[in-house]
Amino acid sequence: MYISTRGNYAKIRSAEAIRLGMVPEGGLFVPEAVPALDRAEINRMAGQSYQQIAQTILKIFLDDFTSEEIDDVVSKSYQINNFDHPDIAPLVQIDSRTFILELWHGPTGAFKDMALQIMPRLLSHAVQKTGAGQEIIIPVATSGDTGKAALEGFRDVPGVKIIVFFPFGGVSRVQELQMITAAGNNVHVVAVKGNFDDCQTAVKELFADSRLNQVLAEHNMAFSSANSINWGRLVPQIIYYFWAYAQMQKKGEILPGEKINVVVPTGNFGNILAGFYAHLMGLPVHKFICASNENKVLTDVIRTGIYDRRREFFKTNSPSMDILISSNFERFLFEVNGHDGDKITKWFHQLHQEGYFQVDDHTKEKWQSLFISDYATGKETLAQIKETFEKTGYLLDPHTAVGLNVYEKYYRKTGDNTKTVIDATANPYKFNHAVWEALAGSRHGQDKDEFLILDELHRMTGFPIHRALKDLNKRMILHDTIVEKEELKETVKRILAL
Ligand SMILES: *Cc1c(COP(=O)(O)O)cnc(C)c1O
Repeated sequence: MYISTRGNYAKIRSAEAIRLGMVPEGGLFVPEAVPALDRAEINRMAGQSYQQIAQTILKIFLDDFTSEEIDDVVSKSYQINNFDHPDIAPLVQIDSRTFILELWHGPTGAFKDMALQIMPRLLSHAVQKTGAGQEIIIPVATSGDTGKAALEGFRDVPGVKIIVFFPFGGVSRVQELQMITAAGNNVHVVAVKGNFDDCQTAVKELFADSRLNQVLAEHNMAFSSANSINWGRLVPQIIYYFWAYAQMQKKGEILPGEKINVVVPTGNFGNILAGFYAHLMGLPVHKFICASNENKVLTDVIRTGIYDRRREFFKTNSPSMDILISSNFERFLFEVNGHDGDKITKWFHQLHQEGYFQVDDHTKEKWQSLFISDYATGKETLAQIKETFEKTGYLLDPHTAVGLNVYEKYYRKTGDNTKTVIDATANPYKFNHAVWEALAGSRHGQDKDEFLILDELHRMTGFPIHRALKDLNKRMILHDTIVEKEELKETVKRILAL
């Protein structure tokens, strides 16, 4: 069963939690209890495919879906037409202790595909199961990658309309083009004059607007969420942590039961939280290393226990992590606090009202033996891309470079030789300007067309061009709406003809 982090909703089954997306009165759905896997079951995964591990994990959490439904969505989602590698998420070793988990082989070149290829199919089943028969409207706030991955995942899914809001000027040109050229009879894309947090806050307000929800209901429509606040986004992300562990075991890099480190370039705290759930289920983890860019609100809260969003917002060269309000941190606090909904309600109310909160020492101590956090500046990010390419021939995108840079700092400080998995969250060609600047060592070329740079980078590195990015600049622009951040609600009403 699933419960609210704020104790303000009845217990529900997983299909209902996925259909609703978030708790209507505020709060996020979490499993009432996290099921544990025994050691033998984890060891068995070393001989299994990505799809088999996916089936195991999804069946545990989504037990109101039939076995046939899960097998069907897994085989349709994690297959070679959607992912350009038979391993789905290949694990690449770059030195004796460092392994890169490439989560970007899906149709849009970012790790969001790992969940968004499957979540729309789960939602389709969930809508049928809960028998609501309504048209589902999905407003999505994106820092760049969720938008395209959601557009791709929900394209032409019957019974669903999707409306993506992205920060105008706050995403890379490749990300922008991927979104504004998105095809499908049920997709809408809107640029918002504001940053990601503005988009996310406005979308959350749509969900909480009871009058608007009533109008939707009168038209036989209902909101749901494709952001990582939806449990249907998080649960597929648990899979690849077990998968990565299984690959290391299979290659003989670790013994059964040996602990690993997990490094995650973090924004909304969804990806790393999925790793934490894997750990709660029994995955042997020594440290989780939460890597931030200059918007280091998470580094600060993990170190000090003070979550403070009252700070300058930076546009960095790892834009998908330019976030000051990490929604999924709420789920994390709920888990480390023994499910104390009152505390969570108080803290998030204070965050909303005053822009900060401070957890008690007891709460902070609970995570400090397991979670490490640090950040990388834009300069360090570029230097990391260059150094790694020169040393190993491996090309990092800026987000993954933030992860590796923070990990290297941790390693220099501790000498911890634990085998380490670093989540690679995007294909490097999604962020051509930054990668080119890193390798060429100058900003000269910032005004150059990003697709010329892509070709140049390809010549310099020989790194294959992801199919999602080929000919992107030749596609027709289908969405050109730009709105003020105060206009989201009106925009939604206009699109839905309410
Ligand atoms: C979304 C995203 C992140 C941040 O992931 P969270 O789950 O929001 O922490 C990091 N890197 C890239 C490339 C992303 O698209």
